[in-house]
Amino acid sequence: MVAAGRGERAGGGEPKQFRTIGGVPMLLRALRPFTSHPDVAQVVVALPPESVMSPPTWLAALASPSLLLVPGGESRSASVARALSALAASATVVLVHDAARPFVSRETIDSVIGTVRAGECAVAAIPVSDTLKQASPGLVVTGTVPREGLWRAQTPQGFPRAVLDRAHAAGMEPATDDATLVEALGQVVRIVPDTSANMKVTTPEDFLVAEAIAARDR
Ligand code: C5P
Repeated sequence: MVAAGRGERAGGGEPKQFRTIGGVPMLLRALRPFTSHPDVAQVVVALPPESVMSPPTWLAALASPSLLLVPGGESRSASVARALSALAASATVVLVHDAARPFVSRETIDSVIGTVRAGECAVAAIPVSDTLKQASPGLVVTGTVPREGLWRAQTPQGFPRAVLDRAHAAGMEPATDDATLVEALGQVVRIVPDTSANMKVTTPEDFLVAEAIAARDR
């Protein structure tokens, strides 16, 4: 679980991952579907280093050998690498999830785990629904990109442990997701169709949408 971002696009105040949605901290919402999953043996949470030193009370109460809190890194990839190095050696299937996605479903988690158990890497994703434009730095449209076959990558993303270890040991440039790193190794990465409810909460407007989803699900 990567939760070590600074959340600067979410506006000021409390770190984004600890802000509440429908009264429940976003990170706790993101964690529950994993901590309550019978096939998930351990969760490692990458946090800003100061939050590892003094986590919120609710998070400190959850910490145990099966829910480790570790300091993240400067980039998302560095945070994943740090969490990975703290993960039990017995873990052979690894899922990476953004704490900024508080509404992941059991179905998506199950499909990602199933794909990895069948020997492939997995990316939860939704088909692109907008028309895509290419533009110059001066904002003049230079082309339209056909959206057929284009998907928006979400999380969780799942990997055989050995593959993810190799991807993070390869010394590649940080990437915005983990699938990018394993694609560079030539691994098969399969799309797991997901829903837009598994949104990433980034901006103040996203918090408004998240509140509405939480109210619907209450
Ligand atoms: O920055 P971005 O929106 O891509 O962040 C996605 C996820 O990665 C968030 O859950 C964020 O907390 C996490 N992250 C991290 N360490 C960083 C940067 C982002 O764990 N250095």
